[in-house]
Amino acid sequence: MPKGSVCLSFDFDGMSLWIGSFQSNNPSMISRGEFGTIGLSRLLALLRKHEAPATFFVPGHTAHCYPDLVKQIADEGHEVGHHGWVHENPAKLERAAELEVFERGFEALDHAIGQRPVGYRSAAWDFSPNSIEILLGFGFLYDSSCMANDFYPYYLRQGDRWSTTEPYVFGSIVDLVEVPPSWGLDDFPPLEYVWGANGGPMTPSHVRELWQGEFDYMVANCPGGVYNLTCHPQFIGRGARITMLEQLIEHMKAADVAFERLRDVAERFKKENPVEAWIKANPHRTGATARPPAAG
Ligand SMILES: [Zn+2]
Repeated sequence: MPKGSVCLSFDFDGMSLWIGSFQSNNPSMISRGEFGTIGLSRLLALLRKHEAPATFFVPGHTAHCYPDLVKQIADEGHEVGHHGWVHENPAKLERAAELEVFERGFEALDHAIGQRPVGYRSAAWDFSPNSIEILLGFGFLYDSSCMANDFYPYYLRQGDRWSTTEPYVFGSIVDLVEVPPSWGLDDFPPLEYVWGANGGPMTPSHVRELWQGEFDYMVANCPGGVYNLTCHPQFIGRGARITMLEQLIEHMKAADVAFERLRDVAERFKKENPVEAWIKANPHRTGATARPPAAG
């Protein structure tokens, strides 16, 4: 039995990141996304060399730009997940607009690879109040956007309510697995420069120290843990960063872990953790230990 799992996940955003999230009309900024095609070919070669299956989240807009590349991702045995239409932030969308984003994403991935994804990751890991209900409605197996654990999957909740004046109200656990990511295991904050927003690229060795430190902690302290790294071909795919990622993969391989797609992790979690039993075992996720609201 491996000591844990590594999920190498990549958001192949292409130009959609700059058009959707950054609302850019700047051809130079948008060209950063185009570099993702170069980075992708390097990453696929790296994954092939190390026989490491991975997960790629692809916006519909990117799937229309590069259907052949998205097909290559799937043909090489990697998972392709849903990542919206044009990298729009769901938190800013009305319900009907968010539904349309899902539909357009499905249609584009169906056109590119003829598959319906079972996993979802939102742009910038943001949710609207409707996102979980919409994910359930479409029958997704898992999401990878929320962060209530670091190295263990969990079940999401629906119907939470909060305010600045009343105690937190826990909603109901739902049959939707979360495989949590984190900003600390993402290449965007340390490696991409955005004027006025990001401080500028760190050295690859500094980033490796961050990422490897989390991995070493998991292996030492979290049996059966899942290490979920999020990279983008347009950021990690440049020069020395790919070399650093390969060094990290080699370090991980020496530690007896399995490289898995997120859907494999989510399927196993569901099989090993029936919802009702999991609810009983996780009182802090259900609010079972919270002070009940005052009567009347
Ligand atoms: Zn993205």
